[in-house]
Amino acid sequence: MGRNEELESLRDQVRRITDEIMRDVQKRLELAEQIGEIKSRLGIDVKDERVEQEIRVKVMALAGEIGMNEDFALRLLNILLEQSESVQALERQQPQKQTHLAVFMKAKQLETAGKKIIHMEVGEPDYSPPAIVGDSLSESFRLKRYHYTDTRGIPSLRDAIAKDAGLPEDNLIITPGGRFAVFSAMVALVKAGQEIIVIEPAWPAYKECANFIGAKTRVLKTRLEDSWTPNTTQLEDMINPATRMIVLNYPNNPTGKVLEKKTMDRILSIAKDHGLYLLSDEVYADYAFNSRFHSVLEYGYEKSIMVSSFSKRYAMTGFRVGYGIANKDVIAAMTKVQAIGITSVAEPMQHAALAAMAADYSQNVSLMKKRLGFVADKLRKMSLRFIEPEGAMYVYPEVPTLDDSTLVERLLGRGVAVAPGSGFGDSYKNFVRISACQPSEFLGRGLDIMATVLQESGR
Ligand code: PMP
Repeated sequence: MGRNEELESLRDQVRRITDEIMRDVQKRLELAEQIGEIKSRLGIDVKDERVEQEIRVKVMALAGEIGMNEDFALRLLNILLEQSESVQALERQQPQKQTHLAVFMKAKQLETAGKKIIHMEVGEPDYSPPAIVGDSLSESFRLKRYHYTDTRGIPSLRDAIAKDAGLPEDNLIITPGGRFAVFSAMVALVKAGQEIIVIEPAWPAYKECANFIGAKTRVLKTRLEDSWTPNTTQLEDMINPATRMIVLNYPNNPTGKVLEKKTMDRILSIAKDHGLYLLSDEVYADYAFNSRFHSVLEYGYEKSIMVSSFSKRYAMTGFRVGYGIANKDVIAAMTKVQAIGITSVAEPMQHAALAAMAADYSQNVSLMKKRLGFVADKLRKMSLRFIEPEGAMYVYPEVPTLDDSTLVERLLGRGVAVAPGSGFGDSYKNFVRISACQPSEFLGRGLDIMATVLQESGR
């Protein structure tokens, strides 16, 4: 056989096998659709972790048997599972999921229609940024500091943050808010079909980012009964060759938890043993009220990415300045994503952030701590269960008598906005998140209304 004939014959085989694969995949999806119909009739959830795990184990064994790369096999499987799930979900008339942002939008509409609302749903501090930030903004205009900058940020801000962290400045990228640091790290490091472990209840953006890039989120659920401490044995059991990243967020949104040092140590050693990226979202690190908080940076783990922000510390949410700290290669990969997406963070905002660094923010922290203490006292009087917030800006009580969407609607009707618990994970329908970003006087009024609504519901 000549070279060309051999090539054509191989290509023919590839065409035939591709054809077969596509037909088989379509058959698989049609079966999934039928399963979806039955599940819908029986009122069973679309997602079944046990069945997924069974298939995963089988596929790994098969990959070993036929000499296929395990990571690739699992990524392929995850893409199939994802598609089956969405085919099955189409069968359902699913109610629109409530998130804290959806409640915020509704509350805003009510305000436009003339209703007064007490906002306890959003995580945006009500106090002002330091005054020098305002001076910096007008100075930026005068000094013509309004140009594109290096994608990684202006050198003076990079140097100042790096110096504080005791790291070289090339371990750092300035991003438009902590949110974009999370996004660019995931886009840069995780491929479609790979897995990201998220500990719930969690800020919804981690899952949203993972979905966006076609990655699979594996959820490690935590419970109020365990003070929201993740079970590290369960965590390790979830890891397989397709796992790429673990996401941590302490102090935690929405629970206010700070992780115990020994749990943090254990998670670090699991990440190291399995060579996983550890993305630690520490945007609330300044609002840690006990000495237990330890940044991932203290561990010097080469595959960690620490995310921080000026939003909460200095009440500069709308300035959109945050940053990521990681090894040089990770920063280079995140920089590429940022260059494609936004060129750079707005220059005046970077100077404003630099100016803010000279300000003392301890008053913000003590004010938040006082308010959270106030909210906790009120909730205790209502006999609700929750953990005392150890950090962040929230309390996450259980509301056993009502599901969150009913409570949220009833409260909105009486001029109070709170965040539904299930916005932070499907298992938390009997929780709400109270944000302490309002003066205590308003928080008090809002919580009194919540007490009345709960009493009326039979509590
Ligand atoms: N991480 C967590 C856990 C958050 O709650 C938030 C804001 N709600 C962010 C990151 C993003 O903050 P920003 O983008 O404003 O820095």
